[in-house]
Amino acid sequence: MIHLSKKLMEFDKALSDILEVKKPWFIREIDVHKGTKSVNVFIDYEERTTFKCPNCEQQCKVHDSRYRVWRHLNIVDYRCYLNVKVPRIKCDRHKVLVIGEVPWGRLNIHFTHLFEQEVMKLCAEMSVSAVAKQLGEVDTTLWSIFHYQIEQAKKKQLNFSEVRRICVDETASKRGHNYVTILAMQIAEMCCTQPKAERRKALQGFIQSFLNTWATLIILTNLSWI
Ligand SMILES: [Zn+2]
Repeated sequence: MIHLSKKLMEFDKALSDILEVKKPWFIREIDVHKGTKSVNVFIDYEERTTFKCPNCEQQCKVHDSRYRVWRHLNIVDYRCYLNVKVPRIKCDRHKVLVIGEVPWGRLNIHFTHLFEQEVMKLCAEMSVSAVAKQLGEVDTTLWSIFHYQIEQAKKKQLNFSEVRRICVDETASKRGHNYVTILAMQIAEMCCTQPKAERRKALQGFIQSFLNTWATLIILTNLSWI
């Protein structure tokens, strides 16, 4: 019995390391369910922890809390869910508010950051509907992740300062009449796709954001079909 408890503590410690659960957070419970092939990890925070107000960043006492659930990357072939006890703080100036962030995922979405990254990796290899099928999720949900991450990448990661030429092309999807517009830049690495019906809007929007951000000179080719 002592040996089993020790093993469980070792597993708890290993999982804390893997999930990067650091103080004041800790794993309270791990529930493995063979029937649904799922692992639920319950993450709490230590008593008397104070959290920053999302508006003024003042350290505040906890008012109340409730568990919120994020789907995380699978553990082997078991679905893994993080059940995080998310507090609401009571700020003298801003009253009762949910804390601004937790380490594992966005507050308004059901998936962890790592799960979102996995979705984006898979989307580079296959269609969103195929990704949804593989992960057992609804494709409309994955599309919202896809659009959010593309916008974040455009804001944070892409550097268009050296771009002088944009190549435009279109291709048919699955040999049918579903067309996608491809915008490729020869220096910066980027590729955007949009359905045919949206291509004019997509291209105009992209060029406008491009102009607003970086470009001083753009050469466009093959625009007769727009
Ligand atoms: Zn405040």
